[in-house]
Amino acid sequence: MSNKCGELFVVTGPSGVGKATVLGRLMKNIDNVYVSISATTRKPREGEIHGKHYFFMERGEFEKLIKDDRFLEYAEYVGNYYGTPAASVEEMLNQGKDVILEIEAQGALKVKEKCPDCNMLFIIPPSFSDLEFRLRSRGTETDEVINKRLEKAKNEYTFIDKYDYIVVNDDIDKAADEIRCIIMASRFKTEKRKNLMR
Ligand code: 5GP
Repeated sequence: MSNKCGELFVVTGPSGVGKATVLGRLMKNIDNVYVSISATTRKPREGEIHGKHYFFMERGEFEKLIKDDRFLEYAEYVGNYYGTPAASVEEMLNQGKDVILEIEAQGALKVKEKCPDCNMLFIIPPSFSDLEFRLRSRGTETDEVINKRLEKAKNEYTFIDKYDYIVVNDDIDKAADEIRCIIMASRFKTEKRKNLMR
């Protein structure tokens, strides 16, 4: 990443924890932030829009993008590919925007390796049983997929020490505001404010 101006925020959390809802709420209360739109080979859920929620594509197309080195990171998650397009993230950072990547743990760790200064946030549910309840009542996945997602969640928890911040999503407004505070604090860093000294 060259000429970086904005900061990178990596947001991970188990499937069903409400990451997208919390980030949606956050975006209503903060400016100068871009939430990266990932590519995926998963089929769209009802209401999901190509280019807004994800760039939906076939495996062949995704694999071509991997070969062409177009992803900042990518991972396989419960049978599908997910990846962060590098160009748009770099462009937004260069424009001075803070960029949020909402990605799972394997990809998050790859981003941390490539961009060690990134801010790593992990969103957790109030309890694991609450998470299971949320996932099952969402009704968008089969039992088999839900069980795999819960297994993934347990595995992701083992990487918690790689993260800088933990946000508990027991209330959407509160969780969104906590993330807003984390982003706002980064904007007051000395390296970004030295130019204000006269
Ligand atoms: P879902 O299928 O529920 O939309 O997403 C499944 C998981 O993939 C979630 O944990 C989500 O954060 C993650 N994910 C979404 N986009 C990306 C991406 O670009 N890269 C990686 N590594 N994970 C992603």
